[in-house]
Amino acid sequence: MKYLLNIILYAIAMGLFIGFASCGEPHTEEKDDCGDHPNPYGLDITHCKEDFLAEVGKNPELMLVDLEDFLEGVQLDIKYAREDNFTGEVIYTAPKAYVRKPVAEALNQVRDSLFSLGLDFIVYDAYRPYEATVKFFEVYPDPEFLADPQYGSRHNRGCAVDLTLIDSETGEKLAMPTGFDEFIDQAHPEYTDLPEEVIENRDLLIGIMDHFGFSVYPTEWWHFDYHRWEDFPLMDLSFEEIEKILEKEQPES
Ligand SMILES: [Zn+2]
Repeated sequence: MKYLLNIILYAIAMGLFIGFASCGEPHTEEKDDCGDHPNPYGLDITHCKEDFLAEVGKNPELMLVDLEDFLEGVQLDIKYAREDNFTGEVIYTAPKAYVRKPVAEALNQVRDSLFSLGLDFIVYDAYRPYEATVKFFEVYPDPEFLADPQYGSRHNRGCAVDLTLIDSETGEKLAMPTGFDEFIDQAHPEYTDLPEEVIENRDLLIGIMDHFGFSVYPTEWWHFDYHRWEDFPLMDLSFEEIEKILEKEQPES
């Protein structure tokens, strides 16, 4: 009898533990809260807070991090939160930069390395909701430069970042081959018909990012993919949903 009681108590304790591990909310396999989110390409996309938290409960690495909270004094220049981007429209509802936790940790190492050279980076873009990837491709349907929605973007996975180098004292951007989102041949990381200083700056950025696990995109010197991007699902969470997730998580962590 006592043995049976122990088993029951253990089962209750495990139930509580599993409930806690999935972020304190009763976990169900139902997706009713999320509703339907049909995708014409059949992609599996995390599209609501409940699903996201369930995934993080199973694998804490999937947590998103606000770079402004994680990297002290980090500079952001989020073009898609303003009209001065290639679409000419405001796409993001807030000038925010989110990435998955291991990506933020790797960027922290990149920064330490840059600091020792009197440099820092400024971020143009990080996590991008899938919906924005669809919109971008409608405006500029060129898979050489923009992610095709049938596959999604590594930005949708919280595993890509667009950035450039700045002087850490003055905040001035270093000379680079092109501006951000200039979809021309000069943006290719291999392009050589450029002033020596520009090539040095570009190759320094690419070399340091590579050292900490980021590979440059073959047509955009400013775009870097975290090497483990395949481990992180596509997401279509709004910035507002992410803010709610982070408000909820931070007091507990
Ligand atoms: Zn990018």
